Parts: sequence; structure tokens; C-alpha cells
Amino acid sequence: MNFSETQVNEILDKLEFQYPDADCALRHESVFQLLVAVVLSAQTTDKSVNVVTKKLFEAYPDARSLAQADQAQVEQMIKRIGMYKTKSKNILALSDILVEKYDGQVPEDYDRLIELPGVGRKTANVVLAVGFGHQRIAVDTHVFRVTNRIGLVKEKDVLKTELALMETLPEERWSRAHHSFIFHGRNCCHARKPDCENCVIGYICEKAGL
Ligand code: SF4
Repeated sequence: MNFSETQVNEILDKLEFQYPDADCALRHESVFQLLVAVVLSAQTTDKSVNVVTKKLFEAYPDARSLAQADQAQVEQMIKRIGMYKTKSKNILALSDILVEKYDGQVPEDYDRLIELPGVGRKTANVVLAVGFGHQRIAVDTHVFRVTNRIGLVKEKDVLKTELALMETLPEERWSRAHHSFIFHGRNCCHARKPDCENCVIGYICEKAGL
């Protein structure tokens, strides 16, 4: 099904109404902390990232302090999350680059962000959207699954999904829509057993009752 502009907006309206508080769940007090939290969140839950960053950011609140940190100590602090050794290495290295090249600040620029260790397309988009207020669609596993099930896009991978969503959704709604899809994926459109019966967009979704 190809959705009309009105239907696309209706889907977004319904989801926004259903999840009025949909926002980034990673706790942070600066763009730097957001960047580190997103890097740590790869293949792990936001909840466990929030547990480890509490202590981490108390000890190392900014790029300058984290760049000076001892890697073994950082590993100790974040070891309850997956790939903690690689992630420790990455957040220390990216802090170092921020200090050396950007005076300790996070660059508000996609191309510069993705040059940082551990930062890919999704992380850069989240930082630009949440940290700097740009309109971006970061496609994670929830956004990929939910938008393809609804039928807003029909794509096989995350990059194609992101590009197709940029075509389909009105730009001024990209960032908010991204959070709505994540919340819908977590709360209703589960990977294994979507709760289609209680879904607010079940009447319009292509895969309702799959
Ligand atoms: S109707 Fe089912 S498949 Fe479609 S968005 Fe809702 S929960 Fe997901």
C-alpha cells in the first residue's frame, strides 16, 4: 500500500498521541555525554547504559577528563555492558580527538562525527537530532522493524530504510517520528509477538495481525 500524505501524518499523529513522552532514554547532561552514551548503547539496552554512565560521568564528565582516564578503570566501570573493552577504547580515543581537534567540544557536523572511533551513521544521527536539534531519522532495530511492518517503507536494510523514510515522512517530523517508532517497537510492535489487537495504528498497518 502506498500511503497518502494525509495517512502518513495520521500515523505519526496517532503514535505521538500514544507516546507523548517519547524521547531519548539515554541519560546525559551534555552533548558529549550523549555521544558517549550512544556509543556505549550499541547492541545493549539503554537501561544498562544508564546504569554504567552514572558512575562513569561522575568520574569523567567531559572529554578532557575522559581523555586522561585509565582504560582499565573505564573497563571496570562499564564491564556489565557488551563489548566493554572495545567500547572503552573507543570512548577514550574519541575523547582524545575531541580535545585535540575540537577544543573538547562535539562537532555539529555529520562528516566529522562519523570519523570518530565507534561512531557510525546511527550514532551521528542521534547526536545531531537529540544533541543539536537537527531533523534526523536514526534507524535502529525498532525503527527498521516497525516502519517496514506498517508499510511506510519496504526495504531490506537500515540504510535503505533511512533514505526511504526521508522520502516518505515530512522533514519537520523526522526526529519526533524516530522516537515514536522506537517507543512503539518497545511497547506494542514487539519483534516476536506484536500486539496488533491493541495497536493504535492497527486499522491502517499493512502487517496487522501478522
Ligand atoms: S498493527 Fe501489529 S504489526 Fe502493525 S504496527 Fe501495530 S503492532 Fe506492529
